[in-house]
Amino acid sequence: MEIITHTDYFILKRMAPGVFATIAKPGTGAWSNAGFVDLGTELLVFDAFNTPAAAEELKKQAEKLTGKKVKYLVNSHYHGDHVFGNQVFEDLPIISTELTREWIKDKNAIGDVDVETQETQNYLDNLMLQIKSEKDEIIKQSLSNQYLEMQVMLTQIPFMELTLPTITFENKLVISGTERHVELYCFGGGHTPSDTFLYVPKEKAAFMGDIVTDNLHLPVFHPEEFLTILESTRTMEIDILLPGHGDIGSNEKVETMIDYVTMLKEAAEGAVAADVELEDFVSSFVIPEEFKKWKGMQGIKRNLKTVFDFYKKDVEKTATQSI
Ligand SMILES: [Zn+2]
Repeated sequence: MEIITHTDYFILKRMAPGVFATIAKPGTGAWSNAGFVDLGTELLVFDAFNTPAAAEELKKQAEKLTGKKVKYLVNSHYHGDHVFGNQVFEDLPIISTELTREWIKDKNAIGDVDVETQETQNYLDNLMLQIKSEKDEIIKQSLSNQYLEMQVMLTQIPFMELTLPTITFENKLVISGTERHVELYCFGGGHTPSDTFLYVPKEKAAFMGDIVTDNLHLPVFHPEEFLTILESTRTMEIDILLPGHGDIGSNEKVETMIDYVTMLKEAAEGAVAADVELEDFVSSFVIPEEFKKWKGMQGIKRNLKTVFDFYKKDVEKTATQSI
């Protein structure tokens, strides 16, 4: 993969002709990845990082490299690390699904600066205590990155303005340019209530948002829809993809995600069928070897609970229906 440049926030790489990835350096103000596509006469940016400062650098680098202007921004899902840079693109059409727009509006509201600053400071103080007492080096490193990232966020709070998408779609949107077109797909919500990914057919390249991440226990919102979305990408020819977190790879990363979500699903379904209590399920769970080194280790407990609750409700619903 050709590295074009290193910036303070990300590494800019060429994935394919006209398709570029900006791989975040977590702890700098860019927590998740973003990317951009040269449509021919203008550019389309996919996701906007965690801070306006990182998004500003993305816009600058994209326009410098191509000599073209950014015309569109896409938000893959509502999480702040993908949308808090939106304000840099406030004069442009910002595209997401209707549901993602609603969730950005509801969940990412930026309140009173003093209150937000105080809350972030409290969060940081708490995090520092956790870092000091943590024995596991992998978890310690991950918490330290979070600490650095939140420190950058703290400095940005006075300048942050929630900027909402202005154009929404439901399942599919095609944006055509003179050189290539991109396809946006939303097959439901697996990681959040609504997850969009981008496909560039000409280059067989894809930006996956957080539907695909690299060796990371990212949050699972809805296990069944997560699998449906991942399986639907199997029908597409994807030679190269950008995960929401981690480095560029092939569609093997999709298969790894399918394995991960399936593992959670089968474990939870088994526990529910055997009438195991949630606490016992989580505390006795042994992480399979292939996922043991994944980052964000705290995340697996949260995922076990989400997936367990999901199938428990499913069983209860079926039981009520059959009465
Ligand atoms: Zn996310």
